[in-house]
Amino acid sequence: MAKLHLITYGCQMNEYDSERVAGLLRERQYELTDDVTAADVILLNTCAIREKAEEKVFSKLGELKRLKADRPDLVIGVMGCMAQLQQATVLRRAPQVDLVFGSPAIARVGELVERARLERRPVLETGEAPLVKITAKPASADRLKAFVTVMEGCEKHCTFCVVPRTRGRERSHAPASIIAEIEGLVADGCREVTLLGQTVNAYGRDLAPPTDLAELFERVNDVAGLQRIRFTTSNPYNLTPKLIRAMRDVPKVCEWFHLPLQSGSNRVLERMNRGYTRARYLELVDALRDAEPAMAFSTDVIVGFPGETEADFEATLDVVERVGYDNVFAFRYSRRPGTPAAAMPDQVPDDVKADRNRRLLEVAQRVAGERSARLTGRTMEVLVDGTSRRSAGELSGRTRCNRVVNFDGQGRVAVGDIVHVRVTDALPHSLRGTLATPEEAVCWSK
Ligand code: SAM
Repeated sequence: MAKLHLITYGCQMNEYDSERVAGLLRERQYELTDDVTAADVILLNTCAIREKAEEKVFSKLGELKRLKADRPDLVIGVMGCMAQLQQATVLRRAPQVDLVFGSPAIARVGELVERARLERRPVLETGEAPLVKITAKPASADRLKAFVTVMEGCEKHCTFCVVPRTRGRERSHAPASIIAEIEGLVADGCREVTLLGQTVNAYGRDLAPPTDLAELFERVNDVAGLQRIRFTTSNPYNLTPKLIRAMRDVPKVCEWFHLPLQSGSNRVLERMNRGYTRARYLELVDALRDAEPAMAFSTDVIVGFPGETEADFEATLDVVERVGYDNVFAFRYSRRPGTPAAAMPDQVPDDVKADRNRRLLEVAQRVAGERSARLTGRTMEVLVDGTSRRSAGELSGRTRCNRVVNFDGQGRVAVGDIVHVRVTDALPHSLRGTLATPEEAVCWSK
């Protein structure tokens, strides 16, 4: 078999796409290798969300140049968001690249790689293509938990973001094809799926007849053998009362919500074109906690968006305190070419961004620590997914609210089991506990 080395940058959707690519190439007799020097084909699945992500790709391509010089038959391909957005720049800055293709062309990866092998000039494929559900995956794919892309694209046009240009307009997969994919995954041992979309809670409105994420939850919930449903990423703008009710009522949907805030200041939210205010965001959090008191939240925040003042930033810190997130993903604003925010005059200096990033993480860590501490003494449902990173003698798993829990259960429970663990210690990044019976259960309230 020929050898494929696949390097993935960026979000879960990229991870999902990489698995599909590995699966499709497996059907063409390529097997995955971790050893870059042994590869016949090297593919970089790229991210364009921030400049840093792009620079990482160019630096990796620089490293690969030497391999290509030694072995001119080696095929080097760049796929994903950066390929879509920067095809000309990629070929100019990295002439060692043989193949550039965007996510719409993934279904044709086998044919594209063959062309790149045969034609001794760069193959470029970044046009639109019909949306197809690809279920191929590599032999090494995680069997217990899986990502399932339910929609592509984004039509939000936030002023900082390149995604509408890299992933195109919103297009949803038909519920039947999603269910068929999940049934196949469950037959292979999957117990938890994460439904993916750039604005996953806009799912289904482009279908005929239209549907929505709440209805999809119901259908996924009916898949026998599946234990848990997660979903990401949602946009507060599309969060409906129907979806909030579904989170309460659909048993397999977990009490964990990744709800990007971006900023806690109305002025900044408006300049970002987010379509909600700080008060509306907090109202949604309250409605979700009223529906499901055990709901855990995580979020994305951008610091140093053009024009962000100290007062704006403090308004963000205030929302972080009020919501009490379990996890905050903090990003320094990165100026993306062609986006409206890149042209805004009042760009924030790098040292101010760095300082705000540090202060945000300090607050976020304290708040998350307080949330963890409250879980001490509680009994929680855990899906066992492996051994603890710190101690091979301990098992590890996740609660429904997405917390990592390590516990001593060797010999008594196995990977894939759902068990109940009483939390004894709240550490900064994980919980520790002991096996228990389900007398009291937070994150297990349905
Ligand atoms: N669809 C999600 C939303 O709009 O809420 C965002 C998904 S995006 C792939 C992940 C995160 O990257 C965003 O939530 C945002 O915080 C961050 N991000 C996007 N563009 C950025 C930029 N230009 N600079 C810094 N962070 C950015």
